[in-house]
Amino acid sequence: MNISHDLLVRAGTLVTQDAQRSVLCDAGVAVSDGVVRAVGPWSEVGALPAREVLDHSGDIVLPGLVNAHTHAAMTVFRGMEDDMPLLEWLMGHIWPAEARLTPEIVALGTTLAAAEMLAGGTTCFCDLYLFERRVAETAHAVGIRGVCGEGIFDTPNASYSGIEAALERVEELEDFCRGKQDLVRPCLVAHSVYATGAQTLARLRDMARERGRLLTLHAAESPAETAMCLERFGKRPVAILEDLDMLGPELLVAHAVDVTEREIALMAAKGVSVAHNPRSNMKLASGMAPIARMLAEGVRVGLGTDGAASNNALNMFAEMTAAGLMAKVRGMDPTALPAQALLDMATVEGARSLG
Ligand SMILES: [Zn+2]
Repeated sequence: MNISHDLLVRAGTLVTQDAQRSVLCDAGVAVSDGVVRAVGPWSEVGALPAREVLDHSGDIVLPGLVNAHTHAAMTVFRGMEDDMPLLEWLMGHIWPAEARLTPEIVALGTTLAAAEMLAGGTTCFCDLYLFERRVAETAHAVGIRGVCGEGIFDTPNASYSGIEAALERVEELEDFCRGKQDLVRPCLVAHSVYATGAQTLARLRDMARERGRLLTLHAAESPAETAMCLERFGKRPVAILEDLDMLGPELLVAHAVDVTEREIALMAAKGVSVAHNPRSNMKLASGMAPIARMLAEGVRVGLGTDGAASNNALNMFAEMTAAGLMAKVRGMDPTALPAQALLDMATVEGARSLG
């Protein structure tokens, strides 16, 4: 039977990211129902029946990039309050601005972010924000894949008045994503170990495990966060997660900049994934995450842009460049994080970190 594909793409160079990391010259892919059905030399793929053919024989074609940590709607805050440290920027400027958010602003900011991400080759993003159902609705309408979670704080904000209302937002998001999980999938999000209390963190941990959902939060983002946690709780951020039994394969830790060798080994042993955001970490001078050490220990690492307010772009190619340069200067080792490792973080490893 002759099955007609929706689309054939001819590539001058095709970077497959398959298990052998094959790179093919004059090759093609066949796509049906949004799924790649065939990959191979153009002499074979080009002979398949298809409704549409795109000729990129002068271009490099590669898999869609995965932004493993962002806050899409923060495009509306791009360029606001540059040049200040993380906690002052976050608590003194970003949170007060977010107190005035509306669902309409979130939808508009997400639309802008989706356009920017798609134009830069990103086809999947993990989003943590407020009014998150509007983020999922927007991603679904635009046609970009989203793993979306309502950011849970213990304190009231523009999206909800308290923890029970916050959990209603989680259920609204679950309702919307039902039946649409090929494109938009819910995850569970705590803001951080300092803005989300232990009881709530444990509740989110249980929900993630019961529902088989990804659980993600910001942790160990900077030495200042560690100092604050030591002062308030007598423990470092990863130790707080450890004591709450939150370290597991469903957990994606954004940042993990200020982590010890023991914490890296623990994250590897527990199957925790990390979302590395080098441009955000540099802009806020949060530090340089020990990514080469994490990879050597077997921690799964994806790459993220963080929000546009702390980057100031959503460009995964810029993020790959920054990650490579940061790792090389951190280790004073020009072989650290080579190009293939960076592309893996921006594609297959990022996708795996999102489940
Ligand atoms: Zn973030």
